Amino acid sequence: MIIGIPKEIKNNESRVGMTPAGVMELVHNGHTVHVQSGAGAGSGFSDDDYKKVGAHILDTIGQVYTLSEMIVKVKEPIREEYDMVQKGQVVFTYFHFASSQRLTQAMIDSRAVCIAYETVEDSDGTLPLLTPMSEVAGRMAIQQGAKYLEKPKKGRGVLLGGVPGVPPGRVLVLGAGTVGIQAAKMAAGLGAHVTMLDINMKRLRYVNDVMPSHVVTEYSNEYNIRKHIRTHDLIVGGVLLKGARAPKLITRDMLRCMRPGTVIVDVAVDQGGCVETTRPTTHENPEYIVDDVVHYCVANMPGAVPYTSTLALTNVTLPYVLNLANKGWEAACAADASLKKGLNIVDGQVVYSEISEAFDLSA
Ligand code: NAD
Repeated sequence: MIIGIPKEIKNNESRVGMTPAGVMELVHNGHTVHVQSGAGAGSGFSDDDYKKVGAHILDTIGQVYTLSEMIVKVKEPIREEYDMVQKGQVVFTYFHFASSQRLTQAMIDSRAVCIAYETVEDSDGTLPLLTPMSEVAGRMAIQQGAKYLEKPKKGRGVLLGGVPGVPPGRVLVLGAGTVGIQAAKMAAGLGAHVTMLDINMKRLRYVNDVMPSHVVTEYSNEYNIRKHIRTHDLIVGGVLLKGARAPKLITRDMLRCMRPGTVIVDVAVDQGGCVETTRPTTHENPEYIVDDVVHYCVANMPGAVPYTSTLALTNVTLPYVLNLANKGWEAACAADASLKKGLNIVDGQVVYSEISEAFDLSA
């Protein structure tokens, strides 16, 4: 198969759909890989790195789309790319169709085969191509939180690890899922005292088993949240109710119970946030202050660490890409129920019911 890796042109996107290691695997499997010149630069990969493993470097994005049977990328095609997508071409990327009717209509009109990373689903309901980005965001939450706790950033001026003779900072993690566990692990590693709240006892039991004793679990309810926000320096929001907006666990009035300079990193901002005062921010202007509480609510946290994020993403996408390239999309999806769940639009038809429902289209 001929596979194309275009450069991402969405604002502030420095990741790339495939690393040189992935290209090497595809070439060893007998496939041809076109990489747009400069596609890997933002993630630290040069054209030469790709050439050395057998990729063909093409000058323009138009050439990559025109000459490839399957496009592998990171973000959804943006308006400039809509007309480049070919009939029958497989496009494997994050689409998030339900948030854009214009994109959905453009991909229907293209008659391409759109397979969305975010809906590939394992039999236990987990989303294997979303997990690595939650891992990145969870770990980053502590790195960012620690920075905003510094006085020049309007934080409380607390060093998370403390020093001999001074107690460590206190981190409250809401949600003990992928984001929460990675955040707790980083905070504990710095020496902070960590409290984790969840409504899922299985998760709390797991955390209790695997984390050191300065990570304490408690059931998540309003009483406990009100109790802990008074004494914690950094609060990480990592809750998720599948397919729904995040519950508002911290309401506006609760901010007044927090000490000035408390920092909230609401990772769940992409689902509306679990704090009433959360609004999405960007890496250019990541934080704002409400009632002396610093809010960091970047909706695309992994975008700030494209090298790590690209490797983490392509580690999990490559087996699916190889399968699609080796078998063709129809046979690959027939043989793999997880991958089949990724099919969203095929030859002008929406085949994923949530998208049809979002826009009142017939699936
Ligand atoms: P997850 O499903 O692994 O974990 C969510 C956890 O929240 C679960 O353990 C669940 O039991 C818990 N939960 C639900 N209701 C709760 C409540 N009332 N109190 C406490 N816990 C509760 O999800 P995840 O992969 O960790 O993702 C968490 C959020 O982070 C999602 O909204 C995801 O989209 C978001 N995210 C954001 C970024 C970003 O850049 N901002 C990046 C990756 C993920």
